Amino acid sequence: MYPCVVIETSPAPEVRAVRLDGAALAETLRGEVRETAAAIAERGAPPRLRVFLVGEDPASRAYVAGKARAAKECGIAAETVELPSGTRGEALLEAVGEANRDPAVDAILVQLPLPTPELARRVFDALDPAKDVDGFHPENVGLLHQGRPRYVPCTPAGILALLDHHGIALAGRRAALIGRSEIVGKPLAALLTARDATVTLCHSKTPDLPALCREADLVVAAMGRAGIVTADWVRPGAAVVDVGINRFETLADLPENLRASPRLRRALEEKGHVLVGDVDYDAVARVAGAITPVPGGVGPLTVAMLLKNTVEAARLRRGER
Ligand code: NAP
Repeated sequence: MYPCVVIETSPAPEVRAVRLDGAALAETLRGEVRETAAAIAERGAPPRLRVFLVGEDPASRAYVAGKARAAKECGIAAETVELPSGTRGEALLEAVGEANRDPAVDAILVQLPLPTPELARRVFDALDPAKDVDGFHPENVGLLHQGRPRYVPCTPAGILALLDHHGIALAGRRAALIGRSEIVGKPLAALLTARDATVTLCHSKTPDLPALCREADLVVAAMGRAGIVTADWVRPGAAVVDVGINRFETLADLPENLRASPRLRRALEEKGHVLVGDVDYDAVARVAGAITPVPGGVGPLTVAMLLKNTVEAARLRRGER
């Protein structure tokens, strides 16, 4: 008889989820936009996007700069109108009205958040629906909910494109969406319903969120609460989409469950800040079947979809759609 030797090993837990690379798909989509924008420019003027930025919030400033840069790289004429944080609602509404009337402007984007939700609503109402490339005007919201969208809001459009690109089935599947904002949760719920998914739209008053998410084939986190979705919220093999963007500059400020991540520690050391989503990526990637990273997941697709909607607006206004 040979003695039984037990060798104890503790291998690093395997990452099993497919990484849903939004940056790569966004690059492909931007290529398509570039071609359409060039064809439009050949027949006259290039598509023109006017972006409004109110206040000095560094995150909003960075998003707007990124959008304008990406637009220009695709042959879209992009101009940013900056209004100081004390700007009265009337001044913003007047500036939006001017862009509505300007025949050279094809597309208008008002960077959110605005100082108050009431002002955001008034601005949505004031937008020319044909130029409203974020799809927030009530007419565009109504068309989306009736299943005949003029413009699909950029973040939900990007999420659907990514899921489709990776062949993630939606019909007959259960989806838990966490967050009911006008820009992510609500339009995405309508779009997934139209694709025959069974949708539960969750929010801060939803009881027992982890149990609800564990029943879902698709979990979309859009709360703005870093690392809340942990491995025990996710059914093995489920797809997880992380919309949240949360910025931290010190390890101590990170939620406790994220502090041990070597990946995040390295990013903090190298860049002095780190962006994390609402999902504890390292833990959830060992359980999920597919997962979006932050950064490099939904964010780049949001920008690509803005550009796509802008060239669509230009075609619409030129009678080509
Ligand atoms: P928002 O308007 O701030 O709304 C947050 C939603 O999350 C609300 O519905 C809120 O519930 C819910 N919520 C908050 N805490 C919760 C909790 N502990 N449990 C359950 N639900 C909770 O959100 P948003 O504008 O959609 O943005 C959400 C996040 O996505 C932010 O981090 C934002 O920066 C990011 N974002 C990223 C992109 C991108 O391109 N990647 C685009 C847009 C937004 P109540 O309604 O009950 O308050």
